[in-house]
Formats: sequence, structure tokens, C-alpha cells
Amino acid sequence: MSRAGEIEAALEAVRRRLDAACRAAGRDSSEVSLLPVTKFFPESDVRILYDLGCRDFAESREQEATSKIKAFRAQVPDQSVRWHMIGHLQRNKSRSVARWAYSIHSLDRERLVGALGRAATTALESGERTEPLRVLLQVSLDGDPQRGGAAVSDLEHLAEQVQSSPGLEYRGLMAIPPIDADPDAAFGELREIHDRLCLEHPEATELSAGMTNDLEAAVRHGSTCVRVGTALLGSRPITSD
Ligand SMILES: *Cc1c(COP(=O)(O)O)cnc(C)c1O
Repeated sequence: MSRAGEIEAALEAVRRRLDAACRAAGRDSSEVSLLPVTKFFPESDVRILYDLGCRDFAESREQEATSKIKAFRAQVPDQSVRWHMIGHLQRNKSRSVARWAYSIHSLDRERLVGALGRAATTALESGERTEPLRVLLQVSLDGDPQRGGAAVSDLEHLAEQVQSSPGLEYRGLMAIPPIDADPDAAFGELREIHDRLCLEHPEATELSAGMTNDLEAAVRHGSTCVRVGTALLGSRPITSD
């Protein structure tokens, strides 16, 4: 089968899976978006997904993303395409990410709020972006800072900081369940944290949860965005991100 045929079949299968998960959870399919994760895969795969109707794509490594997006934009000058940063971000890469990211799902520390806020403001002033950078705070559900994510007790403060940064807009939360955790328990906990923060920030309704192996559980617990890589594009080399 051609690569395009392979990806088309995979996309249909993932959409069916997501529809079934929504039905089982008593939710409307329109409540949960599918965010294809294209890290490690070439720009040609992104174009195949684009031709199949996808307009949102996620990347987790700044350098790879920056060159892939440049190549993609040279081929497809479509302003409606949105790129999302979902991986660990080093502060010194904020300027680059603020140029191309529609949203970031992985903001997890105060020092990054300042750097990204300044970078997004600069990009707005220079016309490199037209809207504030949408921010989801990444929550650590196992309290292990090595794996990324903010401690639950820091979220309220971080949300306030994001909210008061002119270049940023606080939109919600993202989490990855701890390794070996029961996804239902992890996403249930995430949902409670999200509901609590929504009392203070009712506009920040986004909950980015669920990947290839656990999207059904995430949909059961209120996910509004599943980030799917492997089920669409195949397996990647094993790395920490
Ligand atoms: C790679 C990645 C994904 C995609 O995971 P799959 O299991 O391949 O679907 C989702 N979220 C984040 C943050 C990732 O880094």
C-alpha cells in the first residue's frame, strides 16, 4: 500500500475509534478534537494528513518542528493550518516557538511563562503572529518533575501568571498519565483538578488528554483533545519524548 493509502486507512480507523469512545461516554463527537502528532515523521506525511483534511498538527521538539513547518509552509501556503507545541520546551527556544505555535500544551514552570510571554508579545508586535499564544498548563500527576509537568499545588499560581501576560491566553490543562498508572484513575484525577481550576477560570475549558493507548479512558473523563501519533503514523524510535 502507498504511504498515503496507509495513512488514510489509519486516520479513518482513529476517527472511528474516537467516535465510538464518544458514543460510549455519552458525548457528542464534536466535543473532542483529534490532534495528529507528527514528531519524528517527515513533512511529506504532514502533507498527506493535510490532503485528508487535517488542519492541526502537534510537534514536541522545537528544532525538528521549526524546520518541518518551514518546509510545509513552502509547499502549502494555507493560513488555516495550526501547529501545536506539546513537548518539553527550553526557555531559550521560546522565541522560535512563539513564531509558529498556535498553542502550547506543555507550559509547566514560572520561568517559562515570563520567557514565552515576552516572546509572544514580540511576535505580535512584529506581525509574526496575530493572536496571543494559547496556553495549556501541563500537570504532573505523579509528582515527578523529571517527567515534566507542574505540581498540582502550583497550577493556580501559574494560571494567574499566564492570564496576566499580555501575549498569552490561559486555555486549560494537559497531562500524560504516569507510566504503569491506571489511565481511568489518572484521567479521573485530572478531571477533578481541571474542574477546580475552571471555577476561577471558566473560559479555560480545554483538557488535552489521551494518546494512542488511552484515548478511550481520556474521553470518558472529559478530554476535549486527544493527541495521537502512533495510531496514525506508526511507531517511532524510543526516546524520552
Ligand atoms: C508523542 C506524544 C503524543 C503521541 O503519543 P502516541 O502514543 O504516539 O499517540 C502525545 N502527547 C505527547 C505530549 C507526546 O509527546
